Amino acid sequence: IWSCDTPEKAASYLRSKGTPIYLQNYVSGAFILSDKTSVPFLDSFEPKTGAVFACVPCTQSQQVDAAIRTAKDAFPAWSKTTRAVRSGYLRRVSELLQESRELFAVWESIDQGKTLERARIEVDRAIANFLYFSTYILHEQTAARMIDGGGVLTYEHRSPAGVFALISPWNMPLYLLTWKIAPCLAFGCTAVAKPSEVTSMSAYLLAAIFHRASLPPGVINIVFGDGPTTGAALVSSPLITGVSFTGGTQTGIAIRRATAHQIGKHVSLELGGKNPTLVFADALRQDDKERTIRVAASAAFENQGEICLCGSRIYVEESVYEEFLTSFVKFVQDTYVLGKTVGAVVSRAHFDKVRGYLKLAEQEGATFELGGVPLELDGQANERGYWIAPTVLADVQPNSALLRDEIFGPVVTVSKFKDEEEAVGLANDSEFGLAAVLLTADGARMRRVGEQLEAGMVWVNGWLQRELGTPFGGMKASGTGREGGEYSRDVFTVVRTIHLPSQH
Ligand code: NAD
Repeated sequence: IWSCDTPEKAASYLRSKGTPIYLQNYVSGAFILSDKTSVPFLDSFEPKTGAVFACVPCTQSQQVDAAIRTAKDAFPAWSKTTRAVRSGYLRRVSELLQESRELFAVWESIDQGKTLERARIEVDRAIANFLYFSTYILHEQTAARMIDGGGVLTYEHRSPAGVFALISPWNMPLYLLTWKIAPCLAFGCTAVAKPSEVTSMSAYLLAAIFHRASLPPGVINIVFGDGPTTGAALVSSPLITGVSFTGGTQTGIAIRRATAHQIGKHVSLELGGKNPTLVFADALRQDDKERTIRVAASAAFENQGEICLCGSRIYVEESVYEEFLTSFVKFVQDTYVLGKTVGAVVSRAHFDKVRGYLKLAEQEGATFELGGVPLELDGQANERGYWIAPTVLADVQPNSALLRDEIFGPVVTVSKFKDEEEAVGLANDSEFGLAAVLLTADGARMRRVGEQLEAGMVWVNGWLQRELGTPFGGMKASGTGREGGEYSRDVFTVVRTIHLPSQH
């Protein structure tokens, strides 16, 4: 595997091997091949072809418990390491990832369906995550609030919280897992991480990077498996101090339920979205038009629309609606080309889900300005891969599920609004509140509207720029808790107030 740093080499490796790659859990510093007679293996498909290329163990609760115990045993020593030591390990991981950048990008693209170019961006972000927390932990402002009065010296003391379950989804598999692992280790916690069963390959390779970086055994363990078996066993264990989860809202609800009686458990939930993009008429004036169209299109179609922050509901001021739609459709047609700049969607199940919404659009009489799924693909997706063309829908019914549900594919709706008030109302008319894009040339409106949008992240005339230290998370059904820089500290540390006699 480690010599496959081009798609051609990876394809030839898989051909010559003749069997799928069997993934192994990484527990207590060792790779463990699960016993095929007692552990079911799940097929992992290559979305671009529909072929099985890997088999993922569905780790059972006993093995999950063993991994958790390992992490618990490793916690006392790891939590007492100096910041410099932890920083050094994280830096080493980032360097090793950098050395294998192309290899990670190639396998991520095979496993997830994304383009190689998109995969490279995400590997770079993963490298940046380790580097960021390696530096952050050295330079963190640790001066605790201190009050001296009445003969008592009172101060806040923070310490690593304990053992964490880190659970990630399939859309940006490596990047999102590292977004949890890097702060968790930096703040002195140990972990059992579980990637999505649909896209586990990059986590398997990442385990090898941890191994090469000589992280002490048990500090980071990676187990594979599905949600109901492996994930559920992991989050509900009483030995787990906290859960950092990214995934769908329904799963977030299940995790909340499963942990409701464990009052002290830290639970951070980064969930789904149905993000609005607001296009005001002034954003289409000469100088800004190109950027407006480009931003709206990239927010809709990057990574096949499989980014939680994707803007899948576009609302346009009615005076420029036709102009926007014409230019937008042309730009998308020229720029987002299936098989070149647009990859395949992640799985057969997801392909069927997205297609279900396209059929609904047909039934409801929406206009397909672009895309749709050719009917001849019906029933053949497994042989030909899970391809869905970028689709632009207009004339969508105001109360349609197309505007309410997270479709999470290359499908965007374009609707009209009359004025600013209506625009804000439509944007906020969602159970979700993850992200929003505002396209306008009016400086006063940028703040006025931006600050009214019910979204954890708001971008004005841009999308997806991110400073790693800023708070990341959603409102409403999009989650609870914030991660990033010092916000991650709240997830991975506990604070106690110490009262000392002033003179002692
Ligand atoms: P999912 O909720 O189906 O699965 C996510 C992870 O949870 C997987 O590893 C899965 O195995 C595990 N899981 C499932 N059931 C579980 C259970 N009962 N207990 C513990 N773990 C369980 O989500 P998905 O389909 O993999 O990913 C898509 C979703 O993720 C979308 O809704 C998307 O918006 C969301 N997402 C959110 C963010 C964010 O930062 N807010 C980022 C990326 C993706």
